[in-house]
Amino acid sequence: MTLVPVTIRGIVFLVGEITLVIIIGLFVLSLVLVWISIISINTGRLFFPRFVKAGMVFVEGFAKALFRLFGLEDSEVLTFFIALHNSMNKQSFAEIPPEERAIFFPQCLRSSRCPANLSPEGISCRSCGACSIGYWRKVLSAMGYRVFIVPGSSFIKRMVRAYRPRAIIGVGCLSEVKDGLEMSDKMGLVSMGVVTQKDGCVETSVDWEKVMDVATLGVDPAKIPREAGDAPFFSSPSQE
Ligand code: SF4
Repeated sequence: MTLVPVTIRGIVFLVGEITLVIIIGLFVLSLVLVWISIISINTGRLFFPRFVKAGMVFVEGFAKALFRLFGLEDSEVLTFFIALHNSMNKQSFAEIPPEERAIFFPQCLRSSRCPANLSPEGISCRSCGACSIGYWRKVLSAMGYRVFIVPGSSFIKRMVRAYRPRAIIGVGCLSEVKDGLEMSDKMGLVSMGVVTQKDGCVETSVDWEKVMDVATLGVDPAKIPREAGDAPFFSSPSQE
């Protein structure tokens, strides 16, 4: 008669113990991953990137809380994860020819006097010279890239479905790049992110040297237009 309640109680205890072991395990794993991440952030070098990226999938919530506990700003953590993502994808990205890549710029990089119109393919840059996009759009197109200026959040998905690039570069603010990289992972794309230097809705800026460092990965130097080397690496629309 007492066998059934005892067995149920035993199962409940067992489940409780297993849950506790899992929680402690996840907590310890989070501590290790956060510790490695903080060392990487402080030294500027990525340690055990594969382990950190794979582990974070399981303990993202714990890890975020621990990062806050250790006084790290969300922006530092996001920057670290984008660097981690780029480092993991660098080799695969370099193996894909530029003709099978696309690059997406945020519209906030444009000049406030931009005369470009909106089209189904995004903002149609006229290379008017009021911002640096016009110059670099030509350089990147000559290398084989599909170049887009993004007018809205669903645009990238639509262009990826239409043109089926195998690799993409996303330029944007921290949160845009993070979201874009996550979306690319889900879509099976090899993606790289470049974060803008200044957030905002208009006349933001990007370090073009960083953009080109990524864009030229694995590209035959003979395919890189002379203009890429000649250009000053200006970072603000007003500096062109
Ligand atoms: S160069 Fe810049 S400002 Fe001029 S049309 Fe292109 S995006 Fe607009």
